[in-house]
Amino acid sequence: MDFELPPDDDPRRTEVRAWLASHPDPTGRDLAEAGYVAPHWPKPYGLDADPITQIVIDDELRSAGVRRPNNMIGSGWAGPTLLHAGTQAQRDRYLLPLLAGEEIWCQLFSEPGAGSDLANLGTRAVRDGDEYVVNGQKIWTSLAHFSKFGILIARTDPDVPKHQGISYFICPMDAPGVEIRPIVEMTGSHTFNEVFLTDVRLPAENLVGDENNGWSLAKVTLGNERVSLSSGGALWGNGPAADELIDLVRDRGSVTDPTLRQRLVALHIEMEILRLIRLRTVSARIRGEQPGAEASVRKILADEHGQRIMQLAKDLSGPAAMLADEPGSGPLGSAPALWHYGYLFSQALTIGGGTGDVQRNIVAERVLGLPHEIDVEQGRTWAESRRAPAVG
Ligand SMILES: Cc1cc2nc3c(=O)[nH]c(=O)nc-3n(C[C@H](O)[C@H](O)[C@H](O)COP(=O)(O)OP(=O)(O)OC[C@H]3O[C@@H](n4cnc5c(N)ncnc54)[C@H](O)[C@@H]3O)c2cc1C
Repeated sequence: MDFELPPDDDPRRTEVRAWLASHPDPTGRDLAEAGYVAPHWPKPYGLDADPITQIVIDDELRSAGVRRPNNMIGSGWAGPTLLHAGTQAQRDRYLLPLLAGEEIWCQLFSEPGAGSDLANLGTRAVRDGDEYVVNGQKIWTSLAHFSKFGILIARTDPDVPKHQGISYFICPMDAPGVEIRPIVEMTGSHTFNEVFLTDVRLPAENLVGDENNGWSLAKVTLGNERVSLSSGGALWGNGPAADELIDLVRDRGSVTDPTLRQRLVALHIEMEILRLIRLRTVSARIRGEQPGAEASVRKILADEHGQRIMQLAKDLSGPAAMLADEPGSGPLGSAPALWHYGYLFSQALTIGGGTGDVQRNIVAERVLGLPHEIDVEQGRTWAESRRAPAVG
């Protein structure tokens, strides 16, 4: 780590505090208009903030107990793509409600036959006057049932190599012909869906960028993992981290089994390694370097680490781990719900956002310089399909 955080009286901090004093209970819209939802975005949507200023804003909001609107796909993926290639009219229409959390977005990318090899997608969009008519099926669409819009990739030219005939659209989720069917996970939750698109008519103005240039925009979307400045927990940043498990052990009793003790120590070491990798990434960003394949290294480590935390939590619970809903059946007699959910959900960590195997291919090719895996059909490297972690 070769940077220092600004001191308490730094003007960048006092400015945020002054704003918070005049907005003690800010709405999503207040935060969006102030540029605090995505401070790294250009003005007027963000503040053109450098990484240190981002950290300062994060710190100050966190200390004040202020949470940003939760629109992960909107502000993490759709928004940056619209900033990159959207028209001014698209930015004016979509970006502020998206940042304010007033319009939730989902990602209509994966299909039954196109996951890791995303460019294999079969959903068709055919131009008809001022509209495109879309037919096809998407799957694993997180939050589709809450969403106002989806970023959609569909094939507009089936007669060219598969990466060249794809276009990128904004799809209103309440358009006639959009049917959302729930998929209930083994956690018992319903977060993702199948989405069937039957003769869905999208105005041509919903095309983002040029027709047939959607693959390069999909790569912008997938590659736009904002450098994570938050603390490193399991479950994509939202779940309990290893130190919470270690604290539980400290607070609620000791662990005598030497194997479990070793696993706790290993988790602590992994957590520290992940923290250092994160600081390295932030340092690189501060030097103006773009994140590269280390994002894949980090994803591999973090996702498997998350699974190990949850597995150990179950093992520490002993037979009580079977009683998912019983009070005190979490690790060492703690509350069960989060740990039980986390254990089941953590299986998804190494699938969503580019599987662990995909990330390993990227590391093999781009870090270790091993020979490329060839997509025999297109003669392209396979890792191009999912270059960077996505939401899911
Ligand atoms: C929680 C969650 C949320 C999701 N949310 C969304 C969403 O909102 N929108 C969306 O579009 N998608 C979403 N997805 C889908 C996700 O992007 C895909 O599941 C992922 O890209 C993998 O695709 P697949 O499931 O089709 O598996 P496949 O690509 O069929 O892979 C199956 C297995 O084969 C392995 N494999 C495949 N090809 C190779 C290769 N060349 N080399 C080595 N191994 C290989 C994979 O690693 C995997 O183990 C979500 C997934 C999850 C788990």
